[in-house]
Amino acid sequence: MPLPPDPLPPSEILETLRAAGADDVRWRDGRLFSLVYGVSEEHERLLADAYGAYIATNGLGAGFVFASLGRFEREVIGDALTLLGNPAGAGSFTSGGTESIIMGIRAAKEARREAGTLPASPVVVAPMSAHPAFEKACALMDLRLRRTALRPDTTADVDAVAAAIDDDTIAVVGSAPNYPFGTMDDIPALASVALERGIHFHTDACVGGFALPFLARAGHPVPPFDFRVPGVCTISADIHKYGFAARGTSLVLHRDSALRRVAGFRLGTWVGGPYVTPTLAGSRPGGAIAAAWAVTRYFGESGYVALHDGLKRTTARYLDAVRAAGFRVLGDPVMSLFAFAATDDLDVNAVADQMLMRHWAILRQPTAPPSLHLLLTPHHDGCADRFREDLLASVAAVRASGTTSATTSNYTTPR
Ligand SMILES: *Cc1c(COP(=O)(O)O)cnc(C)c1O
Repeated sequence: MPLPPDPLPPSEILETLRAAGADDVRWRDGRLFSLVYGVSEEHERLLADAYGAYIATNGLGAGFVFASLGRFEREVIGDALTLLGNPAGAGSFTSGGTESIIMGIRAAKEARREAGTLPASPVVVAPMSAHPAFEKACALMDLRLRRTALRPDTTADVDAVAAAIDDDTIAVVGSAPNYPFGTMDDIPALASVALERGIHFHTDACVGGFALPFLARAGHPVPPFDFRVPGVCTISADIHKYGFAARGTSLVLHRDSALRRVAGFRLGTWVGGPYVTPTLAGSRPGGAIAAAWAVTRYFGESGYVALHDGLKRTTARYLDAVRAAGFRVLGDPVMSLFAFAATDDLDVNAVADQMLMRHWAILRQPTAPPSLHLLLTPHHDGCADRFREDLLASVAAVRASGTTSATTSNYTTPR
């Protein structure tokens, strides 16, 4: 039976929806360290109301029939370009970091095609820590991805990147910061290596783009990563991560409008008339655009500065907790996400199992050394002490029993 045989009343549908969510991870209680970027009840309501107000609209019409959506997009893109040091640049809304990355790499490729210098078998050079979205971009566009080594501090080995570049290379990538460790690649060094060879450089600031500029304004040290760095051609920055928008909004930003134009898609001769889109999608949710505009107005510059400054303090409490439990933090995390590993033969996956029994959902990272991953949001401040106690108890339980874990999977749900 593909559908209920007859219509159901909205009240019954909504009741079922709400009840179904009761079995999900309790992210509002800070029990989840990925995927959700919540702030407060008021913030969540604003997103829902703004999304709802534009739920029927379509971003495909942002250029003409929905002037409102066009305005929202222009304003948010303008804000982001100014924050990232390039007010005269260009940009597009996308559905998320993955699409922003695909469009950044497409800009690199199409610019070379237009210049008549696209190699027969183009290569993208990316450090091991770069997001799987770069693999996806390469798979979709028939490019080869060449991965390069990391330094012991988990940042990209710049010499390895330089050595990996050859005549087939059309793009070089760096992360600000990377997701697995929250550490900053040396963007100025990487971009300069690319610039010297005339190669497109993409900064992946999906997780950092709406955090680092505010941390810098709050006085925290933030290494250069944006358009102020010579050679940076495109940047991916997710509004739906640390911009705290509803899921479904990210930006791909370009040094100039020529790069934006070349990455877009234009069909002048279809039977239905001309068809032009800046990104992968056709129809796009207008509600997501409205919610992104609303949340950036809700916080404003000083609100984001306060939020990220506070998150830095929350992060310090969690860093302290994992060190107190005997772990070492991998590299030097710049913002509010990091990884930690054991200092002896303690099985971190067994510790994650123990934490899961205590209702904490912590992501596991299998590569050497095996590590656990935390990404903090405002929901985590209130439970930092409880986390610390449970982590100490979990480590003690694993040590006492000598348990190891066969589980490296991240897809287990605590009740
Ligand atoms: C989250 C993330 C991505 C992918 O973004 P999605 O919105 O999940 O598609 C890419 N790069 C980095 C560094 C990220 O943190």
